[in-house]
Amino acid sequence: MIASFSSTGSDVSRFAPSPSGRLHLGHAHSALFAARAAGRQGRFLLRIEDIDAGRCRPEFEAAIYEDLAWLGLHWAQPVLRQSERFAVYDAALRRLEERALVYPCFCTRKEIAAEIAGAGAAPHGPEGPLYPGTCRSRSASERRRRLAAGDPHAWRLDLVRAVAETPALTWHDCGRGTQRAQPELLGDAVLARKDVPTSYHLAVVLDDAAQGVTLVTRGADLFVTTHLHRLLQALLDLPVPRWHHHDLLSDAKGRRLAKRHDALSLAALREAGLSPAEVRARAGFPEAPPSPS
Ligand code: GLU
Repeated sequence: MIASFSSTGSDVSRFAPSPSGRLHLGHAHSALFAARAAGRQGRFLLRIEDIDAGRCRPEFEAAIYEDLAWLGLHWAQPVLRQSERFAVYDAALRRLEERALVYPCFCTRKEIAAEIAGAGAAPHGPEGPLYPGTCRSRSASERRRRLAAGDPHAWRLDLVRAVAETPALTWHDCGRGTQRAQPELLGDAVLARKDVPTSYHLAVVLDDAAQGVTLVTRGADLFVTTHLHRLLQALLDLPVPRWHHHDLLSDAKGRRLAKRHDALSLAALREAGLSPAEVRARAGFPEAPPSPS
């Protein structure tokens, strides 16, 4: 497969892996796609998405730099590491809290599953059943009491309030065209986890803005999340990039590549004697990636 995409030739793009395993061929596709999207006049950036301390390891981060350099990629400095930005994420969350656009959610996974099972016809989004809203209707005094008692809690977006505060939103995907934002597909999404003071969604919109990203490229598996990201950008007054969600690579049996496909890790392919050019070709980009001008 040879990748196709559209960029202005002077975009700021980024590759944003999590250091929770070795990079595989699918990551190589994403990274090369992003580098190509920036083009020779643009800037290709790297971001380490390491908010999950339980799953991320320094040796995987070191391996990311090594694998990408071996592939022939050049990225502009500085590399942004999400684990160094928890104060920024928290400040944004507090702004949303002041406007009553988020609420603490004390539910356990088990309680949510039981509530959904008992509801009969629970609303579903493309990613599964939506949060049933149990904690949305708790009184201010109950919330205060439980927060003061230190009850473990996540913070969820109050979707209905958030949508009421924003005009109708659209966003542009370079592959699929202009989209009407439908954040309702994700419901009251978690913006800060119980164990981590942010979530993928909140961190990614703040970081893309902080890094000046103008063209967000990533796998089609994240297409749905962009509806929510567009809403968060509106709520937090952030600049709005363009997006290009690319198809995911699959293995010979048609299964999507994932971290469990260790045989297809870039390290394994390298050890098996493949050259960077051969791996780039397998990842859909036979030609050398742009180097900095
Ligand atoms: N860290 C995400 C992943 O590894 C990528 C997120 C993004 O590109 O927005 O799937």
